[in-house]
Amino acid sequence: MSADFLESSTAAGWKLDHSYSRLPGLFFRKAAPAPVRSSGLVVFNDALAVALGLDPEALRQPDQAALFTGNLLPPGANPIAQAYAGHQFGHFTTLGDGRAILLGEQITPAGGRFDIQLKGSGRTAFSRGGDGLAALGPMLRENLISEAMHALGIPTTRSLAVATTGQSVFRSEELPGAVLTRVAASHIRVGTFQWAAAHEDHDALLALADHTRRRHFPDLAEDSHLDFFHAAMERQAALVAKWLQVGFIHGVMNTDNMALSGETIDYGPCAFLDAYHSDTVFSSIDHGGRYAYAQQPSIARWNLARLAEAMIPLLHDDGKRAVELANEALHQFQGIFQNHWLDGMRAKLGIHNCEPDDLAFIQRLLDWMQENKQDFTGTFSTLSRAASLEAPAFPDPVFTDWHAAWQSRLARQAEGPAEVLRRMRSANPRVIPRNHKVEEALSAATLHADLAPFHKLLAAITRPYDEPEDDEFTTPPPAGSPRYRTFCGT
Ligand code: AMP
Ligand code: MG
Repeated sequence: MSADFLESSTAAGWKLDHSYSRLPGLFFRKAAPAPVRSSGLVVFNDALAVALGLDPEALRQPDQAALFTGNLLPPGANPIAQAYAGHQFGHFTTLGDGRAILLGEQITPAGGRFDIQLKGSGRTAFSRGGDGLAALGPMLRENLISEAMHALGIPTTRSLAVATTGQSVFRSEELPGAVLTRVAASHIRVGTFQWAAAHEDHDALLALADHTRRRHFPDLAEDSHLDFFHAAMERQAALVAKWLQVGFIHGVMNTDNMALSGETIDYGPCAFLDAYHSDTVFSSIDHGGRYAYAQQPSIARWNLARLAEAMIPLLHDDGKRAVELANEALHQFQGIFQNHWLDGMRAKLGIHNCEPDDLAFIQRLLDWMQENKQDFTGTFSTLSRAASLEAPAFPDPVFTDWHAAWQSRLARQAEGPAEVLRRMRSANPRVIPRNHKVEEALSAATLHADLAPFHKLLAAITRPYDEPEDDEFTTPPPAGSPRYRTFCGT
C-alpha cells in the first residue's frame, strides 16, 4: 500500500470499528476480497458519504476506486464473512455471506454505526459452489432501488458505490463484473439467530441477542429478551406496512433476508406494482406466490415465528412458558401491522382522524383498482391533485360512488382541503423506479456502457415526492407490455 494512498484514505474520514467481530467466532470467518483486474467507480453516493463522515471528493479520486472493488482496504478494515442460516421458501438451510465481505463498522460524526460491506468481492468460507461474484446489472439495480426506498422514507440498507472489476462474470451468459458497497445499520438477520440456535450454543445466542439489542434497541433494559422480540416485531410490522403503501414487493422474504434493524435488505427480485393486484408476483422463482404483494404481512409474521423459535431458550427458563410467551407476542402481530397499515393508508387519502369503517372504506378503493387494473402509484398521485377533491377523476360509476363517500369522510374531520392535499402529497410518491424504466437504464449501462439513463433515473427516484419536469418517469408501461419478470441477483 503506497504512502500516498494511506494518506488520502485517512483524510477521507474512515473510522472503522468491529463490534460484530467481538462476538463468538461462531458468527464469522476471516475473509479477504479477491483481487480484480481493474477498479472503475461507476456510481458514488456523495450524500451518503457525507452522512458517514467520509469525504466524497477524496473518495472520488481515481486511486481510491480500488477501495470499492476490494483491491485495497480502507485503514482499520478487518474483513470478515458473516455466518447465518435461514428458511428459503420455507426450507431451513445454512448459508452465510457467500459473496459479501464486511470491512467494518463506520462510526459517523453523529455517533452512528454502519456496516460497510462489499458485495460481489469473491469467494468466502460460505460460498459453497458459488463464485462469490456479482454482475454489474444486479448491483446497479440494488443501488437504484435501495436509494429509491430511502428517498421514499422506508428503512433500508443503502448503496455507497458501485465499481466495475474489469472482469467477466459467467451466468447463463458472460456479464460485466461489479462490486456494490452496501451500508447497513447491521447485517444481523433472523437467520443469524437461527444459526446460533441450530448450533445449540446458548452462550453464542445470548451474546448475539445482547449485541443486537444494544445496537438496534438501545433503550431496552438489559436481559429484556421478550421486550426485544416485541420491538423487533414492531419494526417489521411498520416496515411491511410501508412496503405495501408504495406498492413494493420484496420478492424473496426468506428469513436470511429479514434484518433485525428493521431495514429492507436484499434487492434481488424485488419490484414495484404497476397495475394494482393483491396477488402480484414478479420473481421468476416464486412459483407458488409465497412472496406475493399481499402475502408480505403474513410472511413477516411467519419469519418472526422462526425468530421466536430461535430465541426460545432466552425467553424463559421453562421451555413451555417460553413458547406461550412467544405465541402471545406473535398473536399481536396482525393488530400491530394493521394499525400501521391503516395509518399509512389514511395518510394516502388525506384522512387525519380515525373511524371504525376506515378499513372497509379503503378496501373498496383497492378493490376498484384491482377490478379496473388501475396503476397503483398513478391512482394515488391523481387523487392527490386538487381537482380530485372537486370531482371524480375516473369516470366510472363504482369509483364515483367511492368518491362521494371519500368526500363525506373528509368532511368529518377538522382539517380542510389544504391540509388534506399536504398530507396526501407527502404520502403518495409521484416517482417510483418503474420496472420498464429500470430495465431501460440497466440495459443501457450493461449493453452499451451508457450510464446516462441510469443517472437520470437515479436523480428522479431520489426526489419521489416532487412533481417531475416531464412525465417520462410517471407514466405506466405501455398497454400490452409483457409481464415483468425478476431474477435473484446472482
Ligand atoms: P441471496 O439470494 O443474495 O440472499 O443469497 C442467498 C445465499 O447465497 C447467501 O448466502 C449468499 O451469500 C449466497 N450467494 C448468492 N450468490 C452467490 C455467489 N455468486 N457466490 C457465492 N454465494 C452466493
Ligand atoms: Mg440475501
